[in-house]
Amino acid sequence: MKRDAQTPVVRCPMEALLVPPRPRSRPSVRRRRETPWQQPVVRLAFGNCSAVELFSPITLDEAQAAVYRAIETWNRVGLSVHLVLVDQIDQLSIDRTSASELAADILIQWHFASSDPEELLSAQVHAHADYPGETSLFGGPPLPLHFNADLLWGTEIAGCYDVETVTLHELGHLLGLIYHSGPDTIMYDAIGPAPLFVRHALDWETVSRAQRLYESP
Ligand SMILES: [Zn+2]
Ligand SMILES: [Zn+2]
Repeated sequence: MKRDAQTPVVRCPMEALLVPPRPRSRPSVRRRRETPWQQPVVRLAFGNCSAVELFSPITLDEAQAAVYRAIETWNRVGLSVHLVLVDQIDQLSIDRTSASELAADILIQWHFASSDPEELLSAQVHAHADYPGETSLFGGPPLPLHFNADLLWGTEIAGCYDVETVTLHELGHLLGLIYHSGPDTIMYDAIGPAPLFVRHALDWETVSRAQRLYESP
């Protein structure tokens, strides 16, 4: 299926959810404390992602492979938490042992904006996630990593949002990073389509923030 769609700059809502707009006369607002995972392994699973194929020029396999590359990029940072992709929840047997073994901390899905359980996805919001521990907005596990299936997704395909780039950003939140950094960092909240907005490596500032978060007692 093909459709003509605009691919404007869109935003990740994660910081704005926690930091209310402030009057200019009051410069200091208390920031929420970023919280790391307390466990050594965080398990990610793909839920229903097939909606990505409806409008986007990539296959489900290509989209999931891009997500996996982003997971491995974060793992190479060497934080004290390791991200493990466990399986496709949709394909789980009902065997109780394997179900509990595969229980996911994070569930990755493509939702249409109209069916996003958290009602965060919109024409201006391409994806969202959650934060671990006491900073979680939605409870859980599993915490959501939700992509907006109404938009065009790709792997370095011009005019599409790049799956790997967006996954790197949202995994930053899922690892505990709340605040969006400058436009040169992966944690910047706005993104446009490829080829301009493609970033497959983590920047120094983001890596430093994550390392500080996981070094703190
Ligand atoms: Zn964000
Ligand atoms: Zn959602």
